[in-house]
Amino acid sequence: MINTVTETKRKFNVEEVRKDFPILKRLVNGKPLVYLDNAATTQKPQSVIDALTHYYTYDNANIHRGLYFLSELATEQYENARLKVKEFINAISASEIIFVRGTTEAINLVASSLCRTKYFREGDEIIISNMEHHSNIVPWQLIRDRKNINLKVIPINDNGEIQLDEFEKLITEKTKLVSIVHISNTLGTINPVKEIIKIAHSYKIPVLIDGAQAMSHLKIDVQELDADFYAFSGHKVFGPTGIGVLYGKTEYLEMMPPYQGGGDMIRTVTFEKTTFEDIPRKFEAGTPNIAGGIGLGAAIDYLNQFDRTELINYENSLLEYATNRLMEIEGLKIIGTAKKKASVISFIIEGIHPYDIGTIIDTDGIAIRTGHHCTQPIMRRFNIPATARASFSFYNTKEEIDKFVESLIKVKQIFAS
Ligand code: PMP
Repeated sequence: MINTVTETKRKFNVEEVRKDFPILKRLVNGKPLVYLDNAATTQKPQSVIDALTHYYTYDNANIHRGLYFLSELATEQYENARLKVKEFINAISASEIIFVRGTTEAINLVASSLCRTKYFREGDEIIISNMEHHSNIVPWQLIRDRKNINLKVIPINDNGEIQLDEFEKLITEKTKLVSIVHISNTLGTINPVKEIIKIAHSYKIPVLIDGAQAMSHLKIDVQELDADFYAFSGHKVFGPTGIGVLYGKTEYLEMMPPYQGGGDMIRTVTFEKTTFEDIPRKFEAGTPNIAGGIGLGAAIDYLNQFDRTELINYENSLLEYATNRLMEIEGLKIIGTAKKKASVISFIIEGIHPYDIGTIIDTDGIAIRTGHHCTQPIMRRFNIPATARASFSFYNTKEEIDKFVESLIKVKQIFAS
């Protein structure tokens, strides 16, 4: 039977959407805020702010423990948020959704937990890429030094793209894990993670995807990608800080020992021996970020109102517009020119330090990020100390991009005089 029921989605209209984000009305240095630092963190719609206020005002109690009304209510809302995440990324089961503090903790969880098993043996290899965020480098270095294993790095070309043939050449019988960023926070590159996973799986190697940037720019289906682990942060997807997700396939999560010990993750404790809860609670020791989980659920509800393709297309139009406008500025060079890019643009301007760019345009109320963006190996690859980075979300406008470009022209004039 053909299913004729179609869900009615809210039509995307940028001016209407901007009204949902109260911070966008504020002034900075007497000018309307132009927020172009969405890769660092995204702004929060009123519905997320309301969910947090409502929880603390009416429903606050600790979860999983009390048999009283409020505790059950808080537990239900927190577990409901887990279900929303499960649906959002199309996991098979809610037990594959581990709530953590963010992408950083998710990756550290996998690294620390696997380090305590016999999974890695001396001489084994983990493959990452040259465009990883420090949070997908340092956790592996920490266990490399404890387990005497090797980190191998997939090189990137001058456009900031991973080369799949180079990746395959790095694989040996000692390769035990591949850990790759989905979208680079510095270059904007969208990596071919589905192909990377397919290649790795043909050698029976599991793959962790750092989805910190991808979650807000793409529609993620972990089953379609066949990712073994997928990590992301709530605050980069319009939710609160201090909450994030590690998705893991059941077979891996069940094999892995707990990351931290404490309350809520145990079945029985004696001084001699402790038995643990099933997943996901095995990995969630102590009182979690209950409000954060509920807030992340509200952020998912917010996004689910829309047809995500409309948001993605709009962001792509901003990327194209901003790229063209920036290229009008003499001496400006974009770092990261991959064919497949999300709306993140890193750039340098000849003779002007990125810090000066960021500081001067801040006086016009424009927020961009400057520095190495926690990706020092990318800076080294392109032989630059830092970049300025503008990153756009679906609540940004072409008018904001025009203001940004005008402000950059002013920076150039200041330095010319
Ligand atoms: N990976 C990438 C690609 C990121 O952009 C970030 C945040 N800048 C992280 C990991 C770490 O995320 P968090 O700080 O939220 O843990």
